[in-house]
Formats: sequence, structure tokens, C-alpha cells
Amino acid sequence: MTSKTITTRTRTRTARDAHGAIDSTHVKTGQWGIIGNAPIIAQLQRMVSAGPDSHAFLISGPSGIGKTTLATSFARALICTRPLSGNACEKCENCVASSAHRHPDLITITDEEDSLGIEQIRGITASLQRRPTLSARHVVLIDRVERMTEEASNAFLKTLEEPYGGTVFILTTNSVHLVPQTIVSRCAVFHCALVPDATIKEHLIEVGIDAAHAFQITALADGRPAYAMRLATQQGAYDQAIEDAESLLTLISAVPHERIRIAETIAAHKEEPARMAAVLDRWESTMRRMLKVAAGQPDNGPSADAIRTLVASTMTLPAIVLLAQQLQQMRDRIRTSGNLRLNIESFSLHLPTTRL
Ligand SMILES: [Zn+2]
Repeated sequence: MTSKTITTRTRTRTARDAHGAIDSTHVKTGQWGIIGNAPIIAQLQRMVSAGPDSHAFLISGPSGIGKTTLATSFARALICTRPLSGNACEKCENCVASSAHRHPDLITITDEEDSLGIEQIRGITASLQRRPTLSARHVVLIDRVERMTEEASNAFLKTLEEPYGGTVFILTTNSVHLVPQTIVSRCAVFHCALVPDATIKEHLIEVGIDAAHAFQITALADGRPAYAMRLATQQGAYDQAIEDAESLLTLISAVPHERIRIAETIAAHKEEPARMAAVLDRWESTMRRMLKVAAGQPDNGPSADAIRTLVASTMTLPAIVLLAQQLQQMRDRIRTSGNLRLNIESFSLHLPTTRL
């Protein structure tokens, strides 16, 4: 099989092409703005009503599950003067300021930077030494806490141990095992689970995506509703997701010398770690789809024919399981060694060449 067979695509369109402008800021969402994971929302709402039973929370889960939205809703509810059943009232002075992203006591570190250094931690500590201005407490929200350098982690640990009035820390991470245990052990940890396909598809249809396209997006989203919404609303995101998923199928089906060339093309993303992480997320999702197909489950999502052909020709279920483990190990090695090209090439060269 050649790589051409795999990359042939019969259907490409974005939600925007098909349906005009779908503005993600005006779509309806579930409670706290996220889809699924209702038990976690209920627990956090109880803590808003009764008072938090921890001063630090760590919300973990795969990228695109809605962790940042969940953490932000929790933070806003904690800042609110008159929360109703654990929800921000949206009317008080605190709610008005926090929804306009200008609340002086809500300190947010977004995930725009690839690493989080000691200067940012020192900035947080300096802010906490002042009394809260509007709210009864400071709330510190740090996205993807695993980005902290070792020095920043050590400084942050001291901040976590220091009593700063009723300050609440809300941290998110794509994976708890990437966060130093010393930090994890001081947090109440909430694990966001993948959301059932039916729930995601239903939501997409509710916000105006036609049923057939919602079905395709759901297959690509792999249980991650915030990611599904990005696929539905961001120009070009859907096509890019298909292209990234197919790059794995191309790599597996290529002959060994072609694999090195493909690996080099992929490693060219090394200057953009977020882009590279997105590609590898899609590879993981594609592997999960391959596992399902190998286990005899139906799949009619994008590239389903290519996945079926590849599974039938070269991959048994145990071989895919092994490959999924190798992909995970490669991601861990890239995170720790940073040598993207070497690790992608090594992964590529260990791919099966005949049916195992
Ligand atoms: Zn309020």
C-alpha cells in the first residue's frame, strides 16, 4: 500500500464552510459552560456553597475536555458575593469584574506560554501579600501547571504551603503524572473523564451543526467536547485534524525509507510545541479508533476506510496496543529530553512493516 491511498480524502469541509459563521461565543453550552463531567461540577458547586474543603484543587484530563472552562467557572463562583446553588450570580460587582477579565483578586495564568518560570510565581506571591480588594479571597488559576520549570515548581510549592488568608489555588493539567508529586499531594484532585460520543453529538446538533457533520466531528473529537467545539467553530480546524490524523496512517503504511522523510516533516514543528502536541493528540485519537476497528467496533468517521484498510493489512489488536504504548512513551521522552526529531524517527523506525 502506498501513502497516496491513505491520504486520499473524499470529504473536506469546515463547519464555517457548510453553515456560515458559527460564533463560538454565542453557542449554548452545558452547566458551567462545559459538556459532560456533571459529577465533578456538582462536587465543586457544593464546595462553593459550603466553603472549599481544600485550599488547592487540581483538575486533570485530556486536552480539549473543557478543564479551563471548568476551572474558570469554579473560580468565578468562588469570587462571587452571592453565589446561587454553587453558581456565580453573574450580577454582583465581583461577577461583573471577573466576567470582564478585570477582577483584581482573580489571578489567572493562561496557557499561552510553553513554559512557566519562577518570575511568574514570584508575581503571584507578590499579589497574594496584598489584601483582596473586591472579594473575600484571592483565587489563583494556573492552566497546565505541568509547564512549570523545576525552579518555578519549587517556588510554587512554598507558595502553596504558605497560608495566604482564604486564598484558593485552582490548577489544571493534561496529566497528573507530569506534575511533581509534592504539588499533587497538596491538592484535591479531580479527574475529568472522556465524554460519551452521543452527548457530544447531541450538543453539536443543538448548536446548529447538521447531523452528518456533527457525526464526523464527534468521531475526530474522541470524547473531548471542547475540542469538538473548536473543530466546529474554528476556520480550518476540521481539515487540519483530518490531515494530522492521516499523517499517522501515512507513516505506518509507508516503506521504511519514506518513513524517515515523513518523520522529518513532522519534526519540523519542533519550534511550535503546542502544534506538535496537537498532532500527537490526534495520533493518540487515531490509535484509539484503530483499536476499536481491530476489536470489531463500527467506525464511520473521517478516514474510516483508510483505518480499516490499514488495520486489515498490517495491524493486529496486540500490535496496535503496543504501538499506542510506544506513542505514549515517545511523548514522555519528548517532554523530558526535548529531542523531537530523534524520538519521532525512532518511533517511525519501530513501526511494523508486515502484519504482526
Ligand atoms: Zn456574583
